[in-house]
Amino acid sequence: MLKILDSAVPVACWSCSVAHNDATLFCPHCSKIQPPPGGDFFSVFGLKPCLNLDLMGLEHEFHRLSRKLHPDRFARSGEHEREWSLADTALLNDAYRTLKDPIHRTEYLLKLHGAEIGEEHAGKDRKGKVDTSRVPADLLEEVFDLNMQLEEMRMARKMGEEDPALQVSLEQAKRKFDGLLDEVDDELRAEWKKWDEGDAGVRSGAQKTMVALLDRRRYLSNLVRDVTETLGD
Ligand SMILES: [Zn+2]
Repeated sequence: MLKILDSAVPVACWSCSVAHNDATLFCPHCSKIQPPPGGDFFSVFGLKPCLNLDLMGLEHEFHRLSRKLHPDRFARSGEHEREWSLADTALLNDAYRTLKDPIHRTEYLLKLHGAEIGEEHAGKDRKGKVDTSRVPADLLEEVFDLNMQLEEMRMARKMGEEDPALQVSLEQAKRKFDGLLDEVDDELRAEWKKWDEGDAGVRSGAQKTMVALLDRRRYLSNLVRDVTETLGD
């Protein structure tokens, strides 16, 4: 169920001057549209940061707010209100896109809490070169083999040669790494509950575990993408 955020900064409504918290798109007193609020994506929906979200509730709230913010409704309003309807809509769309996706939601929430997550922390840099120092220890050997096979496959393709055995081997590797990705997702979900319901100690432990899992996940995703691209050439 949607919970109401009660700990945001109070601001005065531009229209009726009654104070409300800085997380709301509409004044609770006079219902007038407000400038884009200063809170996080969760507060746009009146939610406290959490990982186990009621997705049906979120979608319902997204559509309700989208309708209320629709620029057509503000065609005859003042210039500021017209601008805010566009800016609030953009914010609402960003917030919804981020929160409805389980991985984006987890990354976003952990970043809100100071975690460092990003491509620079994953097993690859932007040029796509594998940084072996970031390979998860338990995958070192397999990743090494896989990269050799990928290289062989690319060479074979370049020469216009077929290598059915290599093809099969890469397809097997892809299935294996896909399976490992699913495992990571299950482990992540198990941490969500700890983060949402635990005390500060449990929460900080869950945060560390999730950062490591997201690292592993990004690494695995990059591998699967490489194999898919090489097979699909
Ligand atoms: Zn007001």
